[in-house]
Amino acid sequence: MALVVQKYGGTSVGTVEKIRNVARRVAKTFDAGNDVVVIVSAMAGETNRLVALANDMCEFPSEREYDVLVAAGEQVTIALLSMSLLSMGYNAKSYLGSQIPIYTDNAHSRARIKNIDDKKIREDLKNGTILIVAGFQGVDDQGNVTTFGRGGSDTSAVAIAAALEADVCEIYTDVDGVYTTDPRMVPQASKIEKISYEEMLEMASLGAKVLQIRSVEFAKKYNVVIHVRSSFDDRTGTLVMKEDQEMETVLVSGIAYNKDEDKISIFGVPDQPGIAAQIFTPLGEAGITVDMIIQNVSRDGKTDMTFTVPKSDCKKALRFIEEVALKIGADGVSHDNSIAKISIIGVGMRSHAGIAQTMFETLSTEGINIEMISTSEIKVSCIIAAKYTELAVRVLHEAFGLDSRK
Ligand code: ADP
Ligand code: ASP
Ligand code: MG
Repeated sequence: MALVVQKYGGTSVGTVEKIRNVARRVAKTFDAGNDVVVIVSAMAGETNRLVALANDMCEFPSEREYDVLVAAGEQVTIALLSMSLLSMGYNAKSYLGSQIPIYTDNAHSRARIKNIDDKKIREDLKNGTILIVAGFQGVDDQGNVTTFGRGGSDTSAVAIAAALEADVCEIYTDVDGVYTTDPRMVPQASKIEKISYEEMLEMASLGAKVLQIRSVEFAKKYNVVIHVRSSFDDRTGTLVMKEDQEMETVLVSGIAYNKDEDKISIFGVPDQPGIAAQIFTPLGEAGITVDMIIQNVSRDGKTDMTFTVPKSDCKKALRFIEEVALKIGADGVSHDNSIAKISIIGVGMRSHAGIAQTMFETLSTEGINIEMISTSEIKVSCIIAAKYTELAVRVLHEAFGLDSRK
């Protein structure tokens, strides 16, 4: 008998029939003699619909109310799944994040889990109850509903698995594992049998939305092995786990892309100590994460600075940057909302040279211009024009020998 945590994503609970399918899978796991805690997302498309409603209502919706609104999607699915299991004769009970409670900080729409009270869960499990917990949401010290950012149900699942020291943490989705790149974009992508936390962290933070980055951070910290698999078949998926020696022999494990960032440039910035801090401090204070930054060589005491921010924060960031530009006497500000970040990832890069060069050559052969570059020990990222995203991913996938031989 094991304690199994299963998470079902939006596409797996997208219709009443699909929820019934999930109920059957959960029941099968329970019948095999396991304790089962299930985390579910909102029905596919529902969170997008709620976000759009908030944005239709006002330009800068209140962060507290935004969380109350978007958390509603998961409330629907926990109840439906629970009803389905109850009608099959199982003892099931749904819980909102605030009812467990899953305690978080008060950073609305990007809250971090601080602590999970496992008392209720353990009591219910002891009574043979299957728990259905709403993903993506928690509650702060003041009782306010908080949410964890898009894709946050993955984090709910891994955090609950860690808190309960579960034997298994399965993330069920609409693909049967983690692939060398998005299998929807590149049909030749190959399924990865096992991937290290470090590589998965990079893949997730660089755009592979199959797992939310925070979920991988949690898994790494608490040593939770994640099994990513399909809710539509019984095939083994991908294990996300500690690095082993075999993993180092692969040069590039995966390719990720991200079209969710915009580029902001600020021109003619006085080249003086403290200017970068003046530009970026207001963004940091507003909780806007700045990703890539480049500063040009200064000419006549002035320089240009370019950086990227999440698309959803661009409007807000521009407001701050235009204010700062005036204050520091910069020449102007511009932005570009049609860029993409293409990244190659692999722990093998630590011990092999020439990988970045292959990337640059491959892109140049296709006539794709590189606008920004950033590197770390196990990744290289390039900003290119968004219209070349698919082409870039495909040619790099081939250049690094990742195409499956189907
Ligand atoms: P869920 O609704 O189950 O949370 P998501 O849409 O968040 O599902 O994540 C699954 C999707 O992630 C897949 O449909 C796939 O298109 C996308 N994806 C992007 N990169 C990868 C990758 N490297 N491997 C697998 N899936 C990927
Ligand atoms: N429903 C939320 C979203 O769409 C959380 C999740 O699906 O993980 O982002
Ligand atoms: Mg997801």
